[in-house]
Amino acid sequence: MADHNFDLVVLGGGSAGYAAAIRAKQLGQTVALVEKDKLGGTCLHRGCVPTKAILHAGEVADAVEDGARLGVNLKLEGIDGAKIAAFRDGIVSGKFKGLQGLLKAKKIDVFAGEGRLVDAKTVQVGDDKLIAKNVVLATGSFSRSIPGLEITGNVITSDQALLMDWVPQRAVVLGGGVIGLEFASLWRALGAEVTIIEGLPHLAPAEDEAISKALERAYKKRGINFQLSTKFESVTQDEYGVHVKTDKGGETIDGDVLLVAIGRGPVTQNIGLEEVGVETDRGFVLVNDKLETNVPGVYAIGDITPGLQLAHRSFQHGIFVAEQIAGQSPVLVEDKNVPKVTYCEPQVASVGLSEKKAAEEYGADNITAYEYNLAGNAKSSILGTAGFVKAIRVNDGPVVGIHMIGARVGELVGEAQLIVNWDAYPEDVAQLVHAHPTQVETIGEAMMALAGRPLHAI
Ligand SMILES: Cc1cc2nc3c(=O)[nH]c(=O)nc-3n(C[C@H](O)[C@H](O)[C@H](O)COP(=O)(O)OP(=O)(O)OC[C@H]3O[C@@H](n4cnc5c(N)ncnc54)[C@H](O)[C@@H]3O)c2cc1C
Repeated sequence: MADHNFDLVVLGGGSAGYAAAIRAKQLGQTVALVEKDKLGGTCLHRGCVPTKAILHAGEVADAVEDGARLGVNLKLEGIDGAKIAAFRDGIVSGKFKGLQGLLKAKKIDVFAGEGRLVDAKTVQVGDDKLIAKNVVLATGSFSRSIPGLEITGNVITSDQALLMDWVPQRAVVLGGGVIGLEFASLWRALGAEVTIIEGLPHLAPAEDEAISKALERAYKKRGINFQLSTKFESVTQDEYGVHVKTDKGGETIDGDVLLVAIGRGPVTQNIGLEEVGVETDRGFVLVNDKLETNVPGVYAIGDITPGLQLAHRSFQHGIFVAEQIAGQSPVLVEDKNVPKVTYCEPQVASVGLSEKKAAEEYGADNITAYEYNLAGNAKSSILGTAGFVKAIRVNDGPVVGIHMIGARVGELVGEAQLIVNWDAYPEDVAQLVHAHPTQVETIGEAMMALAGRPLHAI
């Protein structure tokens, strides 16, 4: 049994945890980072990075089909699932090596093993006791299922889907949120018949309703089936695949796989929270606006805290908490102003309040919403994409929400989040110049329209 003393111990080496460790080290703290599996966590190994790698394969397959529109006649000769998997794994392992090198270069002490809080200042990992002035909990999240729905065989979550080296011919996707939409889009692009089952009335239910409806039209056009306001009832498996029943009755929905994508729960069991008295709600660790738990000196960051589960929010949490502990006065961007991107085709990206939420917060008569159609944007026409940018302002006040749908709009969310987070007025942005022809002009056009001086719009 060895005791080690640090300024800070971080439990969990995912996006949130390693960001906290790096920033704390930069600020002169001694830091221990505890990881039981692989540094980089969900995002690098089972989330953002592998999904986006395989989604790129889907984009390339779509481009082959799009070629004929502009006179580039291509033929899709086949999809090599094993090679796509190798591409995915190559990207992940390259980034993993990079991260390990980064943490080594920054001389962060990494402890490999399962850690547990034994008191407010001590994390135990095997025979090592890591004692610190402050402890940061960053143990992340896991793919949830519903009671009675066992993840086994061809009933899978994103964890198993990201290990597949083959493409299903028929896929049933339970859940029309970000993860479900991305896999549905990918598998469709690679030739699968896809059916999404969503319990709520819309796909992408966390987005502005106009975006959800536009996405539904786009998915219908792509031949992606979906059943809304529909509850999963049961699934059976046999040598022909999975057979899913819903509360709508009728025929079973058959597939090679059933992807369960109904959300993620916090990894907070058996890490010592009860013993130390850290307050939780349905497993999520409760924190104040400084990410402090109810136990002095114990912080929680990333997916184990209630709210958006996104890697860039986790990075922000990590940086914030390190600066807070080092005595600085960092600013925490509220969840509502954290940008969100769904990397399906067409992409969905947003930041700030939906029209409904803005109306609730400011009053329906005190806001103005404007939709700029991508049809008016030359670059979008070249790409052959439909969609729009919807911006919401407070009358005589700032822009409080920007919501976008269309190919590549994820890249536009950078400017959108500056506008919303800097409380910019449309008049401020309308006088700035957007390069032509780019898709980001659509944000400029929406701002010009909201400022009462539309250019390429009626
Ligand atoms: C399929 C999928 C796609 C996604 N795509 C995106 C995307 O495109 N963009 C985006 O922003 N987000 C995306 N996400 C979400 C993103 O991955 C998470 O929000 C992010 O990884 C959360 O970071 P975290 O550090 O809080 O948790 P995690 O990344 O889960 O890291 C927690 C770490 O703690 C370790 N750990 C747990 N318990 C212990 C213990 N007792 N001792 C030691 N170590 C422990 C775990 O092994 C893990 O490495 C995606 C998620 C999934 C599943």
